Amino acid sequence: MAKRDYYDILGIDKNATAAEVKKAYRKMALKHHPDKNPDDKEAETKFKEAAEAYEVLSNADKKARYDQFGHQAFDGNGGFSGGNMNMDDIFSQFGDIFGGGFGGGGGFSGFGGGFGGQQRRVKGSNLRIRVKLTLEEIANGVEKKVKVRRKVQAKGTTYKTCSMCHGSGQVTRITNTILGRMQTASTCTTCGGAGQMIDKKPDDADGHGLIIKEETVAIKIPAGVVDGMQLKVSGKGNEAPGNGISGDLLVAIEEEKHDKLQREGDNLHYDLYISLPDAVLGTSKEIDTVTGKVRIKVDAGVQSGKILRLRGKGIPSINGYGKGDLLVHVNVWTPKTLNKQQKDFFESMVEDEHFEPKPESSDKSFFEKVKDMFS
Ligand SMILES: [Zn+2]
Repeated sequence: MAKRDYYDILGIDKNATAAEVKKAYRKMALKHHPDKNPDDKEAETKFKEAAEAYEVLSNADKKARYDQFGHQAFDGNGGFSGGNMNMDDIFSQFGDIFGGGFGGGGGFSGFGGGFGGQQRRVKGSNLRIRVKLTLEEIANGVEKKVKVRRKVQAKGTTYKTCSMCHGSGQVTRITNTILGRMQTASTCTTCGGAGQMIDKKPDDADGHGLIIKEETVAIKIPAGVVDGMQLKVSGKGNEAPGNGISGDLLVAIEEEKHDKLQREGDNLHYDLYISLPDAVLGTSKEIDTVTGKVRIKVDAGVQSGKILRLRGKGIPSINGYGKGDLLVHVNVWTPKTLNKQQKDFFESMVEDEHFEPKPESSDKSFFEKVKDMFS
């Protein structure tokens, strides 16, 4: 949706004086004030819109930039970014609009939350750890126990209801203005909006009644996770003071390199080297998979570069839809040195027509095989 013109929002024209801007905003703010329009989203939007328009048009610099460049003047330049004003900002702006003697909402940085007396719950900060997993652990899913140092409420810490806001987290003020009695609410600066403050705490606890404690957390890791993925263990981050809620533990997945298997999405690749006689005569070989060793048959006359597909022997899809395959790449190993007897044998075969390459359609070229693999 296109942003509305600031002058239209306040119902004024470009030549409006500072006094006219202020007057127009007063009118809009009163009309759409949340106390007058409880639970009215549209009024709330208009209230915020008007505040944003006033924020810009009441400032000579910002107004000049807006007049020249429009809304683009405030996009991503680090200054005022339109539309992000919260209610605290707006109410604090009222000070100079309505002539009341109250200050701003303070530097509260807890939950965004709404307004109108609903209590904000402070949330503890998140903790981050990295967990290294083998390919086998990723394929089968695993539970990992990790040690984390998290802030928890110290034993013996007690909290009491904030004496300033009586637990609501907000301070309501009634001010007599030229427009009559105005009721405004702002975040309680005494408790930061939590509604509670420390009653008693042990000496080793910090100012919020928290201490650092090492804890073992069991993390269930589902099969199919990918390197770089982040899992969340809710509530295992730092605790918050009082009745606040704990932060989360964010777990970054790191995949260890496997010495035999290479991962490509949910598929795995394995390089199998067989000798020239094995290629000619056929053989069976034991290979590594993520669920243990498996013996596979290699037919007599196998060509180097052939891909044997072991269905379902790859990694399970993280979404739960099936499993990838294990692709075994056959490489025929050519000896680099020969003894006299071996050399005589191969020399005697040089002219033998039986050793001439005669590729058939089943001996697809490398490029066709690659094409098949990704189709
Ligand atoms: Zn308070």
